[in-house]
Amino acid sequence: MTAQSPDAALRARAEKVIPGGMWGHQSVSRVPAGYPQYFVRGEGCRTWDANGRSYIDYMCAWGPMILGYGDPDVEEAAARQIKLGDGLNGPTPRLVELAELMIDTIPHADWALFSKNGTDATTACVTIARAGTRKRKILVAEGAYHGAIPWCTPSLEGVTAEDRAHIVYYQFNDVGSLEAAADSVKGDLAAILVSAFKHDLGKMHEMPTLEFARAARKMADEADAALIVDDVRAGFRLDLGGSWELVGVRPDLAAWSKAIANGRALAAVTGNDRFRKAAASIFTTGSFWTAGVAMAASIATITKLKSSDAISLMTASGQRLRDGIQAQAEKYGLPLRQSGPVQMPVFLFEGDKNCVMGTRFCVEALKRGAYFHPAHTMFLSTAHTPEIIDETLQITDEALKIVAQVADFEPV
Ligand code: PMP
Repeated sequence: MTAQSPDAALRARAEKVIPGGMWGHQSVSRVPAGYPQYFVRGEGCRTWDANGRSYIDYMCAWGPMILGYGDPDVEEAAARQIKLGDGLNGPTPRLVELAELMIDTIPHADWALFSKNGTDATTACVTIARAGTRKRKILVAEGAYHGAIPWCTPSLEGVTAEDRAHIVYYQFNDVGSLEAAADSVKGDLAAILVSAFKHDLGKMHEMPTLEFARAARKMADEADAALIVDDVRAGFRLDLGGSWELVGVRPDLAAWSKAIANGRALAAVTGNDRFRKAAASIFTTGSFWTAGVAMAASIATITKLKSSDAISLMTASGQRLRDGIQAQAEKYGLPLRQSGPVQMPVFLFEGDKNCVMGTRFCVEALKRGAYFHPAHTMFLSTAHTPEIIDETLQITDEALKIVAQVADFEPV
């Protein structure tokens, strides 16, 4: 009998003690064949799997890592707070310091409150909007991801129609469909919820058009409803003031998580004075929501992002990667379509409906030491230096060459 790899052994053990071996987006069934499930270490832009192989990581822990795994400044701030105490009977001074820093950084924000996951933050935004407007309906873009609880989870298993009774769908970047959705709930519109940009799984990514962003703001104002930006995925990668600063439109409420503490568990809602009273009126809390370590890490993360021109660095590296890959795809005659902001790209092959070609490319890159995702938004960090991009481009060149050589590919 051949010895099992450590990753395979962990999967076998998990099969017995974890339903389905793993849940959600990291479910065993969703990890492409050839991909490891378990990771043991991360440093800078690299991760090491349980089998001891290392990768240049373009998922950044699905977004939270933005300054590099184990960033010394963030880790030092966290270590200082660990010594003082993490979860105590009440919040630590870091709570006030972090709220002040966020308000200082994010133009629409007059206040902030904190939780742990993006879902906590999007749900709190929805609840605050309803409390503040005394109305019920929430407009949500079809196919957009806002979390994993009944009002928004992509699976309908265990979800009742009543859980979604006040959710009305529109198409992102389609002003007409947003108008129609708003018209259908006249007098009862609590909020228009928008993603920072269209970043649906397996779809070309799209920035919001100016027309769409302005129309959403106007419709929310006319209906006396809230405009909520879900910045959980994109927050601090496109604009430190919030992603819709790029289109010059400010939300009433925004949901944040992922990158705000460089990997420590933290989420935030920021809001304007119009919704301050409503935010104070709802009951929202969690045992770990005031813990100091993640907040200390967040203060260090935001401070470093602000002082290091982080967005320019990520943009420059992202552009270098995009240009390099584009040239390679053209060289090999492959219909590779890159979309999304360069620091949050998705790579899709035209006509590749089930991501067969995309997965093949990713698996070949994985074998050579680059961790990509065939369908989900990927992420760059400030640890992805131009040298790292060049190392990656050697890998992608080989991977694309192999994909081009596979004779059996026929776009579906
Ligand atoms: N909104 C968006 C746009 C997200 O990408 C995610 C997570 N991928 C969430 C909300 C939910 O965040 P969490 O998984 O931390 O609950």
